[in-house]
Formats: sequence, C-alpha cells, structure tokens
Amino acid sequence: MKTIAIIGGGAAGLTAAIAAAEAARKATEAPGPAPVSVTVYEASDRVGRSILATGNGRCNFSNAVIEPELYRNGAHVAAALEVLEAQAAGVEPSGVSSTSEALSVLPGGPNAVLSFFAESGLVWREEGEGRLYPLANKATSVLDCLRARLEAAGVNLVCDSAVEAIEAPGERCARFTLRLADGRFERADAVIVAVGGRVAPRLLPAGLPFVKTALTLGPLAVKSPYPRQLDNIRVRGALELWRGTSLVARERGEVMFRKYGVSGIAAFNLSRLAQPGDELAVDFLPVVAGAEAFAFLAERACALSAVLDHPATWDDVLRGMVLAPVAEVLLKAASVRGEQVVSAVGASDSADGGAASSDVAAVAAVLKGLRLPVTGIGDERQCQVHRGGVAVEALDAATGRVRAVPGLFVAGEAADVDAPCGGYNLHWAWASGLLAGRGAAAVIEGAHS
Ligand SMILES: Cc1cc2nc3c(=O)[nH]c(=O)nc-3n(C[C@H](O)[C@H](O)[C@H](O)COP(=O)(O)OP(=O)(O)OC[C@H]3O[C@@H](n4cnc5c(N)ncnc54)[C@H](O)[C@@H]3O)c2cc1C
Repeated sequence: MKTIAIIGGGAAGLTAAIAAAEAARKATEAPGPAPVSVTVYEASDRVGRSILATGNGRCNFSNAVIEPELYRNGAHVAAALEVLEAQAAGVEPSGVSSTSEALSVLPGGPNAVLSFFAESGLVWREEGEGRLYPLANKATSVLDCLRARLEAAGVNLVCDSAVEAIEAPGERCARFTLRLADGRFERADAVIVAVGGRVAPRLLPAGLPFVKTALTLGPLAVKSPYPRQLDNIRVRGALELWRGTSLVARERGEVMFRKYGVSGIAAFNLSRLAQPGDELAVDFLPVVAGAEAFAFLAERACALSAVLDHPATWDDVLRGMVLAPVAEVLLKAASVRGEQVVSAVGASDSADGGAASSDVAAVAAVLKGLRLPVTGIGDERQCQVHRGGVAVEALDAATGRVRAVPGLFVAGEAADVDAPCGGYNLHWAWASGLLAGRGAAAVIEGAHS
C-alpha cells in the first residue's frame, strides 16, 4: 500500500491529512489505483495542541478579508490561494499569478478555506477587523470538527513520534525514510513537512534552500526608562515604526507597556518589520491629528483655566486625558513640570513667570509620538510565529511541492510565510495544508497510473 506521511499534526498537517485522504479515496473509487494510507506523525502526545493555544484559546482561525500582500512572500501566497479557489470552484486556475488581483473574489466573500470549515460543520462569527472565531468561542470547536473529518477520512494519527530526519529516495531505498527520535524508522511514498515554525534544516533532505528562522509577531524591547514606569498600563493609541526619518508603518490599537518595552497587537504587528536601531513612536492621542495637537492642548488649557478659576497647569491639562503615570512620563519626556502653568495661557499670572510657549510644542510632540528606540523582540515566549523556513523559491505554489525532491511537500509555517495578527497565519496553514494534501495524493495517484 502506498503511504503519505505528514510530519506534524498542527493546523497545516491536519488539513493536509484530510485533503490527502479524501483525494486518495476519491481516486480509489475509480478503477485502478491501489488504496493509500495517510499517517500523521506528531511529536507531542496529541494532535492539534498548537491550534488550542491560538487566539487566547478562542482560535482566530481566519479573516473575512484575505489580502495576500499582508503576507511575507505575498506573491507566493497569492498564487497558492488562486489555485485553491480554482480547485474549490472546479475550474482550472487562470495561471499562477504574482499579484493579488486574481483574488478579487476573496475580499468580503467566501473562500475555499471557509468552505472547507463550513463543510466540516464549523459555525463562526466575525469580530472587529474581519477576525473570524468559532461561534462557540473555543478553539476546541475547530479541532473537534477537524478530528471528526480525520476519522471519517481514515487518517492514522501517530503521536509521541518526533521525526528527526527525512531522507529522500535514493540508491539504497526507492521510498522516503523517516528517522524518528526514538530510533524507529518509517517509509513513505510522499511526505508533507508541516512541523510549523520550528522547522530546521537538519530535518530536511540536504541542500534545500532555507531561510534562517527567527521568532516574530511578539512584543518589542526598547531602550528607554519609560516602559518600566508604565508597566502593565494599556492605552488605546497608535504605534509608528520609524527608520531614521522614514515612517515604516503605523498601527492603531491597544498599546500595552511592559517593563522591557511595548506589547499588544500593534506592537506585535510592527515586530515583523522592526530592526534594532528603529524607533517606536507612541501616539497617546490618535483622535487628534499631529498638526492639531498644539492647538488642542492650548485650547484645553484655556477652557480649564476658566472652569478651575486659575491658570491651568500641565497637571490640569493632562488630568482626565491620560492616566497619572502616563502624564508623569510625558511631562518628563517633554522636560516640563506638572505644576508649571501652560504657557499658551496665563503665562504672566504664574508664580514663576510662566514657561516659554515651547512647552506646548514639547508636550504635543511626546503626546503624539513618544520616541522609544527598538532593541529587538521583548519576550520570545509570546511570539506567535517564526519568520523564515523553507524558501518559497524552492516550492511550487500550487501544491507546496519541493521542486528538487519529487514527492516532498511543505505546508504552513514551515515555509517562509508569515503574516500579521488577525487570523491570517492560520488561514495560510489551512490553505497550504489543503493544497499539499491534494498535491501528495495526486503524486501517488500518478505513480499508480
Ligand atoms: C500563542 C499563539 C497564538 C496564536 N494565535 C493565532 C490566531 O489566533 N490566529 C492565527 O491565525 N494564528 C495564530 N497563531 C499562529 C498560528 O498558530 C500558526 O501560524 C499556525 O499554527 C501554524 O500552523 P502549522 O501547522 O504550520 O504549525 P503548528 O500549528 O505549529 O503545528 C506544527 C505541529 O508539528 C509538530 N511537530 C513539530 N516538529 C515535529 C517533528 N519533528 N516531528 C513530528 N511533529 C512535529 C508540533 O508538535 C505541532 O503539533 C498563534 C500562535 C501562537 C504561538
């Protein structure tokens, strides 16, 4: 019996197994080909653990709008998703596209991954920014649907079985050899590598183009005393990433300060682009445009002076707008004292004769962009994905097939593809798993015919 081995029982591995087994079964209904066995080798004691950890246990399993340009190696992702859509529609893909334009059917509409989950019985709902979660609000809901489909497809799940090396067919053996950590070895006719972001070259047949892996999509460490003072404070703000005088990216959302730096989705997303030496600029007041911040503060000081019946100080102006520790940091960064009267109003009334009007400009500047020099990832344990893996140039986008090694496929994060938060990483894992599973089944089928 021919065997398809899937290394890794995570998101990509499980969809690959279902797709391979279902495609093989479909083929066996036709006269001719012999049956195919599909086996998942999983290092841990059960499959799908990594799925259960996603989305804080809720599993943000996809996004309503998949834009390939959000992904690292977006052209590869665009080409792969186009093929998947064509498969779902039962048509030949129009050609491997290197742009996202071919995917115009996707934004806002159903797609092949969502169809797969709908067929599997999953019901979901959409939250902000198109994030899709199972209706039951638990990742187990997603895994349960996959498990039922794995069982129906007759997939073998072999747990506690870490594969250490995959040897390509050669002179000694016409099939793949899988060397397991416990000394066992297994043979297979096609192999799908779905081990996630921890993929290492030593697992793979020698010579595969590989991009060194590094953890990303996590909190950022900065060289500044301010985060320590703001530890655990959350701000609904925006973060900008600056490289010299160039703005690299801006993200709105929750900014969470940690002793070492900045966390939260905005920081996670910027971590994919950040390099040591870049600067983060924290915008504590995104509702006010940068050019209007000076006037906003001056007018606020005027209004408060009238209500409080004394010339407004900086403590007065920042109170009620930001938390006290944030105000303290902003004033320190702007070299302004809290009890100092705002210079735009009442300067002549203040005890110390008032401050120069530059104090308004200085506070406006830090309020709209407190600068924090980036040193790297803050806490690797919180990172959600790895950058790097098998270079996409080595892969056929339509199947994840390694061009140089017939019968070998790569799916999910093991390929050099990653994306921001929002369900995009899991979407890629499911999509590339489906393609690799079908690709592997087709190879086996081809070998029979
Ligand atoms: C805390 C956290 C939360 C996340 N939340 C989200 C989210 O809400 N939405 C989203 O889109 N993405 C999220 N991600 C990212 C997402 O989980 C991954 O991108 C996705 O799981 C990748 O799927 P994969 O199948 O390629 O790898 P994985 O899901 O990591 O699966 C790999 C599997 O292979 C097994 N394995 C590894 N090496 C071997 C070996 N040598 N032999 C046998 N088995 C092996 C592992 O045990 C694992 O089961 C999150 C990630 C983390 C860490």
